[in-house]
Amino acid sequence: MRHVTPLVRLIARPELDYDEVAAYLAEVGGERWLERADRGELDDAQNLAEFAGRICYRSWEPGLNPNVTRIRTEQSAYLQNILSSAHGSVLEHVNFSFVFHHVSRVATHELVRHRAGTAVSQESLRFVRLDDLPFWFPDWAEQDSELMERATALLQQMEEFQGWMAGHFGLDEEGVKFGEKKAKTSFMRRFAPEGLATGLVWTANVRTLRHVIESRTAAGAEEEIRLIFGQVGELMAKEAPALFGDYDVTEGAWTPKYHKV
Ligand SMILES: Cc1cc2nc3c(=O)[nH]c(=O)nc-3n(C[C@H](O)[C@H](O)[C@H](O)COP(=O)(O)OP(=O)(O)OC[C@H]3O[C@@H](n4cnc5c(N)ncnc54)[C@H](O)[C@@H]3O)c2cc1C
Repeated sequence: MRHVTPLVRLIARPELDYDEVAAYLAEVGGERWLERADRGELDDAQNLAEFAGRICYRSWEPGLNPNVTRIRTEQSAYLQNILSSAHGSVLEHVNFSFVFHHVSRVATHELVRHRAGTAVSQESLRFVRLDDLPFWFPDWAEQDSELMERATALLQQMEEFQGWMAGHFGLDEEGVKFGEKKAKTSFMRRFAPEGLATGLVWTANVRTLRHVIESRTAAGAEEEIRLIFGQVGELMAKEAPALFGDYDVTEGAWTPKYHKV
């Protein structure tokens, strides 16, 4: 049994092709928007959201659409208006991918309830054999010595049973077909605890991220998923402050000024 701690890594973010963006803007007369983006506002995630928003009204600059006589020139003000007016669909273009490392199946069961705007690839315990049982304990549990003694003994027994089954089924013997290994590995995982730490890649767009960060860090949410989404919130606040700067963070709960955009 291995003690582990859930860890979130941001592994992929949007990247604009500014040559193609420039070519498009030259065709519609919106080149000045890109000049502004060039002046140190090269946050691709924010630029993509703004680009998707501005195409709707052709609001690259005043007059391109005769109905538009004024525009917000500051990106942060523009994106804040997107959030405050709940035009969240433009945020769906902006996707981020994370590795959630050492997260339990307790957390991943809850995570997959969020379906809109997500993609999930989870470590398969039908294929991946358990040789040890990585496990996260919250601080308060670690401080309870009797609890830890009993929990550790239980997990060690489960771990030992995994090893016994692998030997009993002869999984490492010469010539065992992969289909047989898969079938037995799937059976064996039934004897692993739900708190077993595992991993997945989770991709979500900014609209989804805002909703899930709020709901899964709320005071009433489960403690491991709060820990995970606290990390996601920290990463996103750094990554795209104009899209994640409206949160109040109190005692681990991320509450946005603009709910459900
Ligand atoms: C603190 C907490 C406690 C919970 N406790 C329980 C529990 O005890 N039991 C339980 O079963 N679940 C529980 N849940 C899960 C909860 O009920 C939701 O299933 C989960 O939070 C997914 O969120 P969502 O419904 O907003 O869906 P998401 O997939 O995150 O979708 C985001 C939004 O898109 C819209 N949307 C998505 N899909 C559809 C659709 N098919 N039709 C129409 N609109 C759609 C909705 O507006 C939705 O809010 C809990 C969640 C939290 C945060």
